Amino acid sequence: MTCKDCGKDINHHQHKESIGSLGVQLCERHTRLIKKVILDNNTPVDAIHLFYALKEAGVHPMLEWWDGKKSVDIAISRVKLNIEIDKNYNMITHEQAINDLEDAMHSFKNGFTTIRIPHLAIKYYLDETVENILGIISGLKANIKAI
Ligand SMILES: [Zn+2]
Repeated sequence: MTCKDCGKDINHHQHKESIGSLGVQLCERHTRLIKKVILDNNTPVDAIHLFYALKEAGVHPMLEWWDGKKSVDIAISRVKLNIEIDKNYNMITHEQAINDLEDAMHSFKNGFTTIRIPHLAIKYYLDETVENILGIISGLKANIKAI
């Protein structure tokens, strides 16, 4: 068994520990680092799952990337793609809704594309979610080439 982040060998206890708390196979150091990221940014655990699934798919995602104004759940800088995980669609307030749209507008003006993914898509359709993001990445790459 190896850490999904650094590839270091981990023992059975560490495997149980990391899967139990984060749902991802990680070494002691990376379990600690990810837990700190979650604590500092209130990162949904689904973002962690998507982050490692994208890594495994050969993408180079960044977790909790600071765009100068706010922290983005996952960013793929090569194609200027920001991914935000929606924690709870039903709980969104009207202020939040318009703020989200405004944020998306600002990042779009700066050349960034923002997509929002409901956490349920990650929870139940992780593979399909990754597939779709890969499609978006190749679409963005084609657009970059066209310019
Ligand atoms: Zn590690």
